[in-house]
Amino acid sequence: MDFDPPDAVRPLLDRIERFIADVVMPAETAVMTNGFAESDATLRELRAQCKAAGMWGPQIPHELGGLGLGLVEHGLVSERLGRSPLGHYVFGAQAPDAGNIEVLHKYGTAAQKARWLEPLARGEIRSCFSMTEPENPGSNPTLLSCRAARSGDEYIVDGHKWFTSSADGAAFAIVMAVTNPDASPHSRASMIIVPTDAPGYELTRNIKIMGDAGSGWASHAEIWYRNVHVPVDNRLGPEGAGFLIAQERLGPGRIHHCMRWIGVCERVFDTMCRHITHRKIDDEKTLATRQIAQAWIAECRADIEAARLMVLHTAWTIEKKGFSVARDNVSLIKFFVANIMQQVIDRAVQLHGALGITSDTVLGFYYVHERGARIYDGPDEVHKMAVAKRILARYA
Ligand SMILES: Cc1cc2nc3c(=O)[nH]c(=O)nc-3n(C[C@H](O)[C@H](O)[C@H](O)COP(=O)(O)OP(=O)(O)OC[C@H]3O[C@@H](n4cnc5c(N)ncnc54)[C@H](O)[C@@H]3O)c2cc1C
Repeated sequence: MDFDPPDAVRPLLDRIERFIADVVMPAETAVMTNGFAESDATLRELRAQCKAAGMWGPQIPHELGGLGLGLVEHGLVSERLGRSPLGHYVFGAQAPDAGNIEVLHKYGTAAQKARWLEPLARGEIRSCFSMTEPENPGSNPTLLSCRAARSGDEYIVDGHKWFTSSADGAAFAIVMAVTNPDASPHSRASMIIVPTDAPGYELTRNIKIMGDAGSGWASHAEIWYRNVHVPVDNRLGPEGAGFLIAQERLGPGRIHHCMRWIGVCERVFDTMCRHITHRKIDDEKTLATRQIAQAWIAECRADIEAARLMVLHTAWTIEKKGFSVARDNVSLIKFFVANIMQQVIDRAVQLHGALGITSDTVLGFYYVHERGARIYDGPDEVHKMAVAKRILARYA
C-alpha cells in the first residue's frame, strides 16, 4: 500500500497549503469578527484569487468548471481546507452546496441544471438543504410533517423546518417533504427545489448557537413554508425518492466532513503545540515541560493519525468497492472522528487557559461551532447502534 498522496494531486496539495496559510488565514479574524454576510466583499475577493490560481471547486465535476477530484483526492484537499474556518467556502467546497451540487448533477433535469446547478457551481448563488423539523426527531427523518401536496402541475409546500444551514442569503432550498403519505416510510418523501423568493417562504431567524446567530453561509435558520406553490418540475428525481437521494448525498458528504475535521484537528494541534512551547509557567519552564501536557500531545497525535487513516481507508473502499461495502466504515468514522476532534479542541482550550475560551484564537470558534459534528448527519448513538446491529447480526 502506498500512503503517499497520489502524484497527480501532490503539487495541488502544496499549493493549497500555501494559499490557506498565506491568503486565507490572514483574513480569518476580520471575517469571523464581522460575520460572514458582512464580509461578502472580502470573501468574494478570496474566491476570485482562488479561481485565478486554478484551484476552484476541487470536488466539482470538470464540465461544471471544477477540478473533478475523486473521493480520496478530495479527502486530502478537504483536510488542507479544514485548517481554516474559511477554507471550504473560499474554494467552493462548502456544505451544504457541495452536496446539493452532487445531487443536482446526478438527478437534475436540463432546466434545473441551467437555472440552479450552473450558477451554484460557479459560486454565484448559494443554496441550503431543508429537512430537519423542530417538532420531529431529525435522527428518524421518516417522521416528517412537511407536506408537498400535488395540485395539477404544482406542489403546495407546507411545513416548519429548522437548522437549515446557510439559508440566510441562499437562492434556493432543497426541501424534503412528504409527497406520498400512504407509501412505506422510506418512499414517502421527495426533494423539491423551493426558490427562497417564492411567496410563503419565510426565514424567521438565524438560530443562536451557544450565543452566536452567525450570518450568511455561517448560520442555521428556522424556516416556515406556508402554502408555497412550486412547479412539479422542481422535484428532484422520481416522486418518493427523497430518502434514496439523501442517502447518496450523505455517503461522500461524510468523507468530506471527516477529512475537514482532521484539518481542524491539525490546526488546533499546531496552535496547542505553539502555545505550550512558549507559555512560561514559572521563571524558566514552559507548559511543554509538564508531563500532563506531553501526554495530551502524544495522545492527540495518535488519535489524529488513527482517525486520518480510518477516513482515507473508507474513502478508498468507497472508490474501489462501492458505498455498500464501506457502510460500516462510514458509520464508524462519523462518530469516531467527531469525538476525536471534540477532544483535541477541548484539550487545546484547556492548555490555553482563559485565552482558550476567547475569540482571540481560532479555538473559541471551533469549540462552539464544531460541537454539532456529533449531532448532524446522524448523531453518534444512531451510528453506533446501526453498526453494532450489523456486526452482531453476523454472530446471531
Ligand atoms: C450544526 C448543525 C447543522 C445542521 N444542518 C442541517 C441542515 O443543513 N439541514 C437539515 O435538514 N438539518 C440540519 N441539521 C439537523 C440535524 O440533521 C439534526 O439535528 C440531527 O439529525 C438530529 O436530529 P434532532 O436534532 O432532531 O435530534 P433527535 O432526533 O431529537 O435526537 C436527540 C438525541 O437523541 C439521541 N438519539 C436519537 N435517536 C437515537 C437512537 N435511535 N438511539 C439512541 N439515541 C438516540 C441522540 O443522542 C441524539 O443526539 C443540523 C444540525 C446541526 C447541529
